[in-house]
Amino acid sequence: MPVDSHKEERALIFDIKRGSSEDGPGLRTTVFFKGCPLSCVWCQNPEGMEPHPETDLEGQPVGEWIGLDELLYRIRQDAPFYRSSGGGVTLSGGEPTRQAEFCHHFLKALKAEGIHTALETCGLFSYRSFEERMLPWLDLVYFDLKLFDAAQSRSYTGCSNETILENFSRLVAEAEVPVIPRIPLIPGITDTPGNLKNLADYLRRLGIDSCSLMPYNPLWRDKLQRLGRTSSYCRATFLTPEEREKSLGYFRQRE
Ligand code: SF4
Repeated sequence: MPVDSHKEERALIFDIKRGSSEDGPGLRTTVFFKGCPLSCVWCQNPEGMEPHPETDLEGQPVGEWIGLDELLYRIRQDAPFYRSSGGGVTLSGGEPTRQAEFCHHFLKALKAEGIHTALETCGLFSYRSFEERMLPWLDLVYFDLKLFDAAQSRSYTGCSNETILENFSRLVAEAEVPVIPRIPLIPGITDTPGNLKNLADYLRRLGIDSCSLMPYNPLWRDKLQRLGRTSSYCRATFLTPEEREKSLGYFRQRE
């Protein structure tokens, strides 16, 4: 049976993280959807890139098809924690908008149960589909901005950034819920002075005065190895305090 025939009633998911305090307000359950249109050389979740189930080198499955009812059943286990902490459910990945039809039904069901919803997105999606199928049932959007230059974006993420920047500008202008930009600090790629200055100027032109800077985490390299894959990018250490401070400085200087 072709993979796409599962699209509406089941989703391809590679992880469900319970009790997360990093993916939005309160305590959350974060659902990681498998499949991403980008192929960042530093991908922090390489097991989420391919839009099909895989097996790692130890023979363990990576990604499973989960039905809507089963997913909601698992989510409801943590409902008391959402209520007591002001938390909810975050859709992450990979890229959740790649499975927009399932997400449409999932988000509608969550909102029907009064659960707060958030999305983490790489921003490369059909705006029309997104605004029709997902946005009305979202309470919060985290929108990744990586590279301002289109050629660099193609080189390091495999895709131009034109649609991403268009989608971000439009969403900021039209959405009735918070849209929070997030910039991953990837040493030598996204944390260069030119890129950070350009992004800071871009945000300021849109009237946005704050964003999240996401520090580089090299643990993705172990995950990639377990999948039997390699990357041209090889930074093996966390950001130094000096590197972090330098990146923050570009945003402080522009305030
Ligand atoms: S957008 Fe995120 S999930 Fe997709 S390839 Fe880049 S880092 Fe990985």
